[in-house]
Amino acid sequence: MLPSLAYRMVRTVDARLLWKFSYNFGFKGMLSVQRFKRELKKGKVFPPFLYVSIINSCNLRCQGCWVDVAAPQAMISFEDLNRLVVNAKKHGNTFFGILGGEPFMHPDLIRLLEAHPDCYFQIFTNGHFITDEVAAKLRRAGNATVLISIEGREIASDIRRGRKRVLNHTVNGLQACIRNRIITGVATSVCQSNFEELVREEWVDELIQWGVHYAWFHTYRPVGPDPRPELALTPEQVLAVRRFGVEMRNRKSIGFVDAYWDDKGNALCPAAVGISHHISPWGDIEPCPIIQFANESITDNDGDIYKTMTESRLLEDFRKSAAKATRGCIVLERPALLKEIVERNGAHDTTARKQAIAELEAMESRNSQYNLGNEIPEKHWLYRFAKKYWFFGFGAYT
Ligand code: SF4
Repeated sequence: MLPSLAYRMVRTVDARLLWKFSYNFGFKGMLSVQRFKRELKKGKVFPPFLYVSIINSCNLRCQGCWVDVAAPQAMISFEDLNRLVVNAKKHGNTFFGILGGEPFMHPDLIRLLEAHPDCYFQIFTNGHFITDEVAAKLRRAGNATVLISIEGREIASDIRRGRKRVLNHTVNGLQACIRNRIITGVATSVCQSNFEELVREEWVDELIQWGVHYAWFHTYRPVGPDPRPELALTPEQVLAVRRFGVEMRNRKSIGFVDAYWDDKGNALCPAAVGISHHISPWGDIEPCPIIQFANESITDNDGDIYKTMTESRLLEDFRKSAAKATRGCIVLERPALLKEIVERNGAHDTTARKQAIAELEAMESRNSQYNLGNEIPEKHWLYRFAKKYWFFGFGAYT
């Protein structure tokens, strides 16, 4: 239902912000993926989508969170963030995912957006710090979308996120964004406690009524110091989440993002195919947010992130070994293999708690998005087209 989504976007988003989204993210993002493909042929892997956790602190205490949110505060300085973006831009990147902790606790977040009007940022947030004043600043910057996490209705949210009235505060932030005509998404880590409530059409209709423009359903990954395996989805539920996304993006006037399947419904891992890697609040360069091991930092090579990433033996070994082992998530399916990769590369634990190896050892192998023989292809022509050309295995699985 893209025409009705387009109509809704034109009516509810600031025209300047729509232009920035279309040009900085849509057009330039597409060029950066094309460049990534060309570089791949020369054996260089520099992800067009870098995800940067800019701060470890957070006001919430979510079940299963792998970030050391209660550890002494660590954040990437404005100077380092700026240098990272400048260097990545030189190599064609224009998109940056901003994570935390809670990114709005970083004092220089807006300054970073303003310093790079030619880029596009996606901010993963719980929404609690977004007042009308903050939303107005985001609107002025013009080059960011907020992706606000909602983990269930009132009761489920409070339990999942360790505070009272969490949903209320989140919805206040969300409404401030909508009022200020910002492109606004809702992200959910689907797990046992919110599956019934949120993987349903009524919830999507409610998001549309609120004015939300896109939804992103992740599936819960039991990792970190308190993994809560009882919250993990069964293979049937993961398949149901995929089927639901394909169906909703075909029928509803809302965008639906997923990052684990290509146009034909084949599973993939964004880190194994090299389209995305992660930077921790301490500046460590990690394969993905839940793999908290690294050998390199954003300050290596005088801040030349391109050189550091393209020459990283750990990242290269990770990508090759992960893609050879599974099209799904190596962390969930093969934690012992991940431990081997980490150890043979001498990678260090990037957490504050310094127990990441013990956590890997304690993990049991479980299912992930890979479900051979049950692939669900995209139904909508535009998603099929976009995924076919800009989001696929990039030869990693051949
Ligand atoms: S390793 Fe797992 S969590 Fe990390 S990017 Fe791949 S599929 Fe996602």
